[in-house]
Amino acid sequence: MPGSATSGLSFQTPLIFEQGSPGRSGASLSADDLPEVDPKRAFGDMARQSPPQLPEVSEPEVVRHYVRLSQQNFAIDIGMYPLGSCTMKYNPKVNEWAARLTGFANLHPYMPDELVQGALELMWRLEQGLAEVCGMDRVSLHPAAGAQGELTGLMMIRAYHRAQGRDPKKVLIPDTAHGTNPASCALNGLQAVSFPVGEEGIVTTEALAPFVDDDVAAVMATNPNTVGLFESEMAAISELVHSKGGLVYGDGANLNALMGKARPGDLGIDVMQFNLHKTFTTPHGGGGPGCGPVGYKALLDPFAPVPVVEQRDGRFVLDYDSRPASVGRLRSFQGNFGMMVRAYAYLREMGAEGLKQATELAVLNANYLRVRLGEVWHVPYERICMHEVVISDRHLKDSHVTTMDVAKRLMDYGFHPPTVYFPLVVKGAMLIEPTETESLQTLDEFVDVMKTISDEANAEPDRAKSAPQVTRLRRLDETQAARKPVLRWTAPETPPEP
Ligand SMILES: *Cc1c(COP(=O)(O)O)cnc(C)c1O
Repeated sequence: MPGSATSGLSFQTPLIFEQGSPGRSGASLSADDLPEVDPKRAFGDMARQSPPQLPEVSEPEVVRHYVRLSQQNFAIDIGMYPLGSCTMKYNPKVNEWAARLTGFANLHPYMPDELVQGALELMWRLEQGLAEVCGMDRVSLHPAAGAQGELTGLMMIRAYHRAQGRDPKKVLIPDTAHGTNPASCALNGLQAVSFPVGEEGIVTTEALAPFVDDDVAAVMATNPNTVGLFESEMAAISELVHSKGGLVYGDGANLNALMGKARPGDLGIDVMQFNLHKTFTTPHGGGGPGCGPVGYKALLDPFAPVPVVEQRDGRFVLDYDSRPASVGRLRSFQGNFGMMVRAYAYLREMGAEGLKQATELAVLNANYLRVRLGEVWHVPYERICMHEVVISDRHLKDSHVTTMDVAKRLMDYGFHPPTVYFPLVVKGAMLIEPTETESLQTLDEFVDVMKTISDEANAEPDRAKSAPQVTRLRRLDETQAARKPVLRWTAPETPPEP
């Protein structure tokens, strides 16, 4: 089986909670000399009644547990991870080195500005770099994810309207949008109004115009959109919305197709988020820290989150006071600083030319897959795409093999599945984003495997229907997992004898 990620390893080892034995420990600390505290007096009713039943394990047991978990998982460091809209690209290890430098990694967030000039300067320089890439005036580095960046941007838009004595409520969102867009509106007390994209898969001014009125706070646009197409009418759309007093929010998660080529700020976008954990190669997924900075035009500056890094008399300061109309603080301290170091290192390694080349390769790779996969698979939008391409399971209709089966079968062949059943506007969609970091050889392997799966689907549909077969766990009941997740280990009724 080509590139099978997990075959040959045995994983039948118990969970860490079932290992070890009472009294076993991986730490050897000298006895403390602190006075005994009566938990009842210190914590009252909150004092624990019985020991917490944590695993008591040795250092090798802990190490093996985590290494084993890492081997049971798929990762970009193992193989291609073409999860559309997520930009799972390879993260150069030099960025990890930079983030681990003692002078960055060991900073304390309460250190005074004078002692963290280097960190503040890095934040300042990152802000300048991101603003330049996107044509924005300033960038707030606070938000911890793309979705929180959306929330922040919409809060700034609302504050802007209110400062002018207006309170428009609607945000227009095309029906191809990422699910976080309407969610961010709802969180902000704004009403998400969905409108259809045109036949061509992009927003047209004709489709949008009937929805634009005085109650529109903003239009939220993703460019390239989630079917991987460039919104070529963006400048006209911005003009239309601006003419009615609304603002334009740009979902900048998909910057991998724009860097060095087109700047959202030049297309009329007033505020946008970046996903540093997508485009700027910091590790992504697994619920780890992200960073979703918000770039904005000067008209939104009074409402920016505080503190803002400012340069004064050649020094860097955290400014809390100059923006009384600020939307406030969105994140504890300064946000996920380690992500900022990684992104800054990446920007400096790549330079302007490198970013442009990354964009060109990302788009080339996606179009290569569009054409090669299109030899067998259904490609709903037969035109030049940007960094990702949508295909569908339409040609497998008679075999009853579906997109979900294909996704599961890909795991047997050592590939992470693409995004499935999204965008919603394409039935049985698979959204494939190869990114610039995959080689031609890997892309060809992926195409071969996709063709094999298609052949198999017709000849032996059960193969796909019963996939995955070589992963540690077989096909899971996704409904049960979503509806009744088991998120906690519970101790057996009788704890083991000491
Ligand atoms: C990933 C993504 C988001 C959300 O970003 P998170 O960091 O996961 O919150 C929003 N919009 C689009 C288009 C995305 O691809």
